Amino acid sequence: MTTRSIKNILQTEDFGIQLKVQGWVRSFRSNRFIALNDGSVQGNLQLVIDFTQFEESFIRRIAVGAAIEAEGILIASQGSGQTMELQVSKLTILGDCDPSTYPLQPKKHSLEFLRQIAHLRFRTNTFGAIFRIRHTLSFAIHEFFNSRGFYYLHTPIITASDAEGAGEMFQVTTLDLNNIPKNEDGSINFKEDFFERPANLTVSGQLEAELAAMALSKVYTFGPTFRAENSNTPRHLAEFWMIEPEVAFADIHDNMNLAEDLLKYVIQKVMTDCSDDLKFLNDRELEDEKQKPLAERNELSLLERLRFCVENNFERISYTEAIDILKNSNPNKKGKFQFPVEKWGTDLQSEHERYLVEKHFKKPVILSDYPKEIKAFYMRQNEDGKTVAAMDILFPGIGEIVGGSQREERLDKLESRMIEMHIPTEEMHWYLDTRKYGSCPHAGFGLGFERLVLFVTGMTNIRDVIPFPRFPGNAEF
Ligand code: ATP
Ligand code: MN
Repeated sequence: MTTRSIKNILQTEDFGIQLKVQGWVRSFRSNRFIALNDGSVQGNLQLVIDFTQFEESFIRRIAVGAAIEAEGILIASQGSGQTMELQVSKLTILGDCDPSTYPLQPKKHSLEFLRQIAHLRFRTNTFGAIFRIRHTLSFAIHEFFNSRGFYYLHTPIITASDAEGAGEMFQVTTLDLNNIPKNEDGSINFKEDFFERPANLTVSGQLEAELAAMALSKVYTFGPTFRAENSNTPRHLAEFWMIEPEVAFADIHDNMNLAEDLLKYVIQKVMTDCSDDLKFLNDRELEDEKQKPLAERNELSLLERLRFCVENNFERISYTEAIDILKNSNPNKKGKFQFPVEKWGTDLQSEHERYLVEKHFKKPVILSDYPKEIKAFYMRQNEDGKTVAAMDILFPGIGEIVGGSQREERLDKLESRMIEMHIPTEEMHWYLDTRKYGSCPHAGFGLGFERLVLFVTGMTNIRDVIPFPRFPGNAEF
């Protein structure tokens, strides 16, 4: 007899068939009904046992969390709450679960509590839903790019270029920290380190992706990135996953279209393929919101937000227009912003991004053409001499979800900007070579995967959408 997943059983409704299932006990009531879950879907399969067939000591071992295997006949259920049930003829306990110490019970636990037992939280309905959706999203991302002729590129995790994230990188070394080799002038002798030079964990695969795009035309990366920024926020992790397409012969508008299409495609995919999990998270949020003051509640439910995002064009405005809106906004005039918006040129804080998206436009916004002073050296300089062809996408409840730009393809402009920004041009010879040999207009962006999962699941803390979050002071599991 073959084992079938609960997902498969619930879908096919093969009544009258003898089958075998394995999973973990979610609840056991009246010494008769077991709710069994194997993680393949949100739903449980109801097992019905005839307790007169088993020893009392065996029945006692059917505890919440125990791993079991059952064989029996699938029948239409008499009871309410489920359409089918398995009439069990054989039951084996594969792994006991001691109820006196097991931290999970069939009730609602707080997310804070579950974060402290991240190794067990997969077993809850909420985290089952989140990680099935996370899977569907990553699969959909590959599907999207593959169908559009992009090549998946693996960029290095360890890199020696620290051009991008000055001060935010994790150093990688095999030097003995208790006995660091020094040069005569007292500086560290990196010649004795593994790579014979300082090395770090990558903060982005973009620069390497650009090199590949200059030959393969359309590439994307999807890998882990690391930032040692000490930002203890609900939207930052020290280790997160990023999707970075890079496209030759594309400008900033192509870039915006690509990002908007990608986001809509993957969100639609989850709405189609994960409807049960989304419905669960939607109802969970509605329940939570009842505890909140009216002003803090979402105007739209999770499902409505997703649908809205897929069905409407994102608003596209320039940084300059955004500053005007923010300067004249009510919260700015009434001093409600923590960082008041006064003059053109200041970086936008997340409170400003969220005002634009949630209050002013009430839809996702693509902001473009930022002042060059607040953006990276590689972004293409606009004719006005003040702005660069940058584009960020801002999402409700999240703020920045995508950061991208058209890249500076003109060698002289790129070099002079690097010198202005004190970026060592000699060390970056490999990057500059692309501008020397067959340079062309090109563009790309970085989509933070966990911020996308946050939006799609409606969760509010980024630590709840990655299996094992890394943040300052935390790397336990
Ligand atoms: P922020 O201003 O929110 O810190 P950023 O400007 O540093 O973002 P980029 O360097 O443009 O972001 O990175 C591209 C994308 O990666 C961002 O739009 C965001 O979705 C995501 N991202 C950036 N930093 C983090 C982080 N620490 N944790 C999770 N996602 C992040
Ligand atoms: Mn950042």
